[in-house]
Amino acid sequence: MSSKQHTEQNDDRRGAMLAVLRRRGIVSDTVLDAMAEVPRDLFVPEHLAELAYEDGALPIGDGQTISQPYIVALMTEVADIKPQSRVLEVGTGSGYSTAILSRIAGHVFSIERHDSLAIAARRRLGEAGYLDNVSIVVGDGTLGLPEEGPFDAIIVTAAGPRVPEALQAQLALNGRLVMPVGSTPGAQKLTCVVRDGDSDFRTEVLATVSFVPLIGAQGWQR
Ligand code: SAM
Repeated sequence: MSSKQHTEQNDDRRGAMLAVLRRRGIVSDTVLDAMAEVPRDLFVPEHLAELAYEDGALPIGDGQTISQPYIVALMTEVADIKPQSRVLEVGTGSGYSTAILSRIAGHVFSIERHDSLAIAARRRLGEAGYLDNVSIVVGDGTLGLPEEGPFDAIIVTAAGPRVPEALQAQLALNGRLVMPVGSTPGAQKLTCVVRDGDSDFRTEVLATVSFVPLIGAQGWQR
C-alpha cells in the first residue's frame, strides 16, 4: 500500500474512532478536536498499528498499556482544561494522552516511572511536533512535582489505593484531579476531586474502569 493510501486509511479510521467517542457521550469540541488531530498510530507498537483506532487499550511494553481512546477523552473532558492551564499527568506511558493534553493546555508536565517508556514517549512527541509545551520527567508521580505546582488539572493514568495527598496538595483552587482508585481491574472507580477551598475538596465517582497499578510512595508498594 502507498503511504498516501496508508494515511487516508488512518484518517478514515480516526474518523470512525471520533464517531464512537461521540456516541459514547463525549461532547467537548476541544477534546474531540484534539483526538481528531493526534495520530494514535504513531503511539502504538508498529505491529499493532492496524488496531490504533479501535476503542481499546493496547500493550506498549514493560507490562504497560496505552489507554482506551474513550477513557482518554472522558478523563480529559472531566479535567476541564483551558488554554492557559498547567496540567500534571502521572503515567506518560506511550505519550498519547500527553499529546492530547498538549493540544489543549498551556503546559503539560508528565511523569513516568519507567525510563524506557519516558524516553520512547519523548521521542514520539518530538517527532510529532508536540514537545513545545510538554516536559517529560522520570520519577514517582504519586509525589507530584511540587516545584512546578500548583496545577489546574492533574490526570493520573494508573489506579492507586487512594488519591495521593501529595497530589491533592498540588491542586490549584478550583483545580480538578481525575484518577482511577481501587485494586481490581474492571471494578476501579474513576474519581474526580475538585478543590473548592484551601482544605475543601469535593469527590465524585464517574465510572467503573480497568487500569494498570499506580506504583509508588503514595500508591501501591511494588
Ligand atoms: N496515558 C498513557 C498513554 O496514553 O499511553 C497510558 C498510561 S498506562 C495506562 C499507566 C502508566 O503509569 C504506565 O506507563 C506506568 O508505568 C505508569 N506509572 C505507574 N505508577 C507510576 C508512578 N508512581 N509514577 C509515574 N508513572 C507511573
